Amino acid sequence: MAVSRATDRASRSAVHDLSGSADLYERARRVIPGGVTSISRAGGLPHPVYFERGQGPYLWDVDGKRYIDFVLGYGPLIFGHAPDLIAQAIARQAARGTMFGAQHRLEVEAAERIASVVPGAEQVVLSGSGTEAVMIALRIARAVTGRPLILKFEGHYHGWSDSAFVSVAYRGASAGPPERPTSVSGTAGMPEGATSGVLVAPWNDPAALRAIFTEHGERIAAVIAEPLMVNGGVIPPELGFLEELRQITRAHGSLLIFDEVITGFRLALGGAQEYYGVGADLAVFAKAIAGGVAMSAVTGPRAILEAVGEGRPAHHGTFNGNPLAAAAAIATIGYLSEHRATVYPHLHGLMARLADGLRTSAPGLTVRHSGPVLHTSIGEPATARNARDRASADSAAHARFVQGLLAAGVHTAPRGLWYVSTAHADEHVDLAIAAAGEAMAALG
Ligand code: PMP
Repeated sequence: MAVSRATDRASRSAVHDLSGSADLYERARRVIPGGVTSISRAGGLPHPVYFERGQGPYLWDVDGKRYIDFVLGYGPLIFGHAPDLIAQAIARQAARGTMFGAQHRLEVEAAERIASVVPGAEQVVLSGSGTEAVMIALRIARAVTGRPLILKFEGHYHGWSDSAFVSVAYRGASAGPPERPTSVSGTAGMPEGATSGVLVAPWNDPAALRAIFTEHGERIAAVIAEPLMVNGGVIPPELGFLEELRQITRAHGSLLIFDEVITGFRLALGGAQEYYGVGADLAVFAKAIAGGVAMSAVTGPRAILEAVGEGRPAHHGTFNGNPLAAAAAIATIGYLSEHRATVYPHLHGLMARLADGLRTSAPGLTVRHSGPVLHTSIGEPATARNARDRASADSAAHARFVQGLLAAGVHTAPRGLWYVSTAHADEHVDLAIAAAGEAMAALG
């Protein structure tokens, strides 16, 4: 009886034994809508994998299988899983209090650390997640300029709040003309009017940007951008585009906000501002800022951020700057500052190796890579300049490719973003390259 039940469970799973995950998924679906705690984690075939433990570049699932992890928590784990540095910082602080709901030394130190490495960061506003930090950044921009509109780029993701979850993906016919995309609500349940406060521009199109500013410039509080379009498929800014963005926002009295939730502390210690040499007015950080603990920040000049201190706009949050997150951020930024000369060449070098290797081993795969971030997909041009150029992507085929990698012990994200950490080495990347060749070949 027990054997046939196990066989049945295995047959409900993928090619390798995921029966423990299948069981957990069944339990999860009873108490968690859809069985997952973020909709971005849904869609694993035929069900998500449940993990038990992570160490360095590895994850172990509940059935005991080990995977090399290239998801890395979708970006935060810049040192890999469970690094001693972070584990000890958290444990030390946990024994002294996880939550004060009042001011404390560590939040001051965390803010000082952030300000010491981020260009233009005179002050720092701390929050809990990237979504929250974007919300307050946009609110600051509208409050200090007295203007109503935000301009964002089609295909860029800035979290799931009503103020930013607009035109996150290209939606075909409803998305309007390429040079002047319509603002499309990203989800059911957005309030009436949410999209009317957000203008949408195509990425990498200076003429389109100028035209929108000519029409609406006096009402645009801020432009927000992923300075390197990572979520929409790792599409870098073309030469001069960020400079154009800087120039046009300044000329019209609008703020420029870099959403560095992914690029922060990963492209370079000072993020995209340092990497591209273009300064924003405000920059938003989360993910890697605390090495795998939830924390986010908005940085910028005192002249702008002082408004938050005056309550214009209001910024709240029970867990803002909490001691656990602050301790992890201090440890993270301290280590990165001390070891920047080795960390960044390592991350960039590994990703270049992965990109080259994937292009050779899996020629049918579209690989775009920029510094320490990489994107794979199937059926779209490697030369895509914006969200619409990616419309031919075959996401079902890519999901099967990801499933093949999983069976070979390589954990990657269905939507194609790959990360590496300081715990990854050539051997891990080389195993992934070989597995990718086989997984692509198996697609036929
Ligand atoms: N901005 C960007 C660029 C992101 O990649 C993300 C998360 N993927 C967010 C904002 C939202 O961050 P969080 O998931 O921490 O709310």
